[in-house]
Amino acid sequence: MEERTPLFSFGVIADIQYADIDNGTNFSKTRTRFYRSGLLLLRNALRSWSRSRSRPSFILQLGDIIDGFNRGLGSSDRALDAVLAEFSSEPLQVHHVWGNHEFYNFSRSQLMESRLNSSPRAGRCGADIYAYSFSPAPGFTFVLLDGYDVSLLGVDQTSEQYSRALKWIRKHNHNQDLNQPPAPCGVQQRFAMFNGGFSEQQLLWLDALLSRADEQRERVTVVCHLPVHPAAADPVCLPWNYEELLSTLRAHSSAVCFIAGHEHDGGYHWDPESAVHHLTLEGVIETPPDSDAFATVSVYEDRMVLKGNGRVADRELLFPR
Ligand SMILES: [Zn+2]
Repeated sequence: MEERTPLFSFGVIADIQYADIDNGTNFSKTRTRFYRSGLLLLRNALRSWSRSRSRPSFILQLGDIIDGFNRGLGSSDRALDAVLAEFSSEPLQVHHVWGNHEFYNFSRSQLMESRLNSSPRAGRCGADIYAYSFSPAPGFTFVLLDGYDVSLLGVDQTSEQYSRALKWIRKHNHNQDLNQPPAPCGVQQRFAMFNGGFSEQQLLWLDALLSRADEQRERVTVVCHLPVHPAAADPVCLPWNYEELLSTLRAHSSAVCFIAGHEHDGGYHWDPESAVHHLTLEGVIETPPDSDAFATVSVYEDRMVLKGNGRVADRELLFPR
C-alpha cells in the first residue's frame, strides 16, 4: 500500500522522572523505577524523532520530567538542567505539561517563570492557570490542561488556593496522610494529594474553546498530565472532578483525542459517548534501559496513526466522520 504523507506529526513522551539515584520501586513495590536511565531513553526518543523522515512539528512532554526525590537531595535544578540539556540537543519544539513531580520540586510561581513554561503569549487560559492552546496546522488545535489548577501542591499553605483545595479533598479523604487514597479500589481512590482538580475558570475556558472549534469543524486534541477516563487508566490516577472534564469533552464534536501520562502502565479507551480516543502513555520511569517508551503520531485528514516504541503499542485513532 502506498504510504501517504501526513499533514504533520508530533512526538509524545511521559513521566521521565529523572533523578541521579539508583533504581527503586513504586509505592506498592511491584515495579522497578529506573531513575537514572530516563536520560538515555529520552536521548533515544529525541534522536529517533530528529532523524525520522517526517520530523515531528513538536514534542509533547506529558509531565513529571524529574522525580520528587530531587527536592530532598537539593538537586532539583541540576536534574532539570540535565533533562532540558538533552531536549535542547535536538532542534525540536517542546510543549511541557506539568505533573505532581513538578510541584514536588518547584512552586507554581517558580514554574511559571521557568523553562518548563512553554505557553505562548496568545491562547492562554489565565495568569495563574497553566493551560493554553496552539494550532500546528489549519483545522487542528492542541490544548494543554493544568491538572493541578486546584491542588495542595506548589501553593503556599496560607493561600486561598490551598484552603479551597484542602476543603475539597477533606470532604472525601479523612486520612491523616492525604497521599493515602481514601478507598482500596474504584474511582473514590482519586481523592489523594498526588492528584488535583480543574477550576470552574479552566473548565469554562475549555468549553468556550471547544465551542469555537465545533463551529469551525476543527479537530482538537486535549493534553493533560492526568488521565480523565476511568477505563483508560487506574482510577487512582484520575483528577478529583474528572466527570466534569469528561462531560465537557462529550458536549463537543471537535474533541477527538485526550492524551495523558501519570499512570506508568499506560492505557487506552475509546469513549463511545464522545468518540474521543483516551490515550495514557507508558512512563519512561518504569521502562527498563534496554527498552523504550515514546511515540510518534502522524496526523491525516481522517485519522492519527501512532507509532509506538518499546512498551508503547501502535494505534490507529480514527476521527469521527
Ligand atoms: Zn504524575
